[in-house]
Amino acid sequence: MKYNNLRTLVLSATFMPVEIFPDLLTISVKDAVTNYLNGTCEVVEFYDIPILSNGKPIEHKTKGVLFWPSVIMYKAYQKQNINTRLTRENLYYRDHFCCQFCGDPLTIKNTTMDHVIPKSKGGPKNWMNIVASCDECNKQKGDSLPNGRWKPRNKPYIPTFYDLLEIRKKQPLVVDHESWIPFLPKWESEIIVRGQKPVEAKDAFANDNETAEVEELVSA
Ligand SMILES: [Zn+2]
Repeated sequence: MKYNNLRTLVLSATFMPVEIFPDLLTISVKDAVTNYLNGTCEVVEFYDIPILSNGKPIEHKTKGVLFWPSVIMYKAYQKQNINTRLTRENLYYRDHFCCQFCGDPLTIKNTTMDHVIPKSKGGPKNWMNIVASCDECNKQKGDSLPNGRWKPRNKPYIPTFYDLLEIRKKQPLVVDHESWIPFLPKWESEIIVRGQKPVEAKDAFANDNETAEVEELVSA
């Protein structure tokens, strides 16, 4: 890896993140610079981390030291992905991160999809017949019908993208840099700024041509 591990937040032309659910869309800082180079995006915010070439910050005649972008904005409108297919992750959010039988908290990883009307009794695999379950309840329930303790705590429903986003907001959002925060929607839970640990490579770009391109682009 010749580059550092910094990520850049990607905004649509409306100054809103291109993707927010289940997580923010980010790209590598190098890709962000490339997009800037080819004219598809503008840089909105920078990290305090200079772009190095031969171990030294790239210095531009008029702009001074060049920094890695922390937020970019596409010039063209980007369509938001508002897909709410039945996936384990989407189910985890719809069912408020809890097993619908015992109520224990789940993680995305240990969420299982449980058929309310068992598969063996003709229960389909769709939003109306699937609930989030811990592994233990899923195994214990087996072919039982949804009676007594096997009645889901919340009635299954088909969620919209905005339903899922509102539930997602009840969980912390981790961001890489404080410069991202002004572009986020109002968040119910806390926003955590991850400590930056950039692995600064000696040379940000593979060759002198690329470095020259970057100097040129930032001077434009
Ligand atoms: Zn359970």
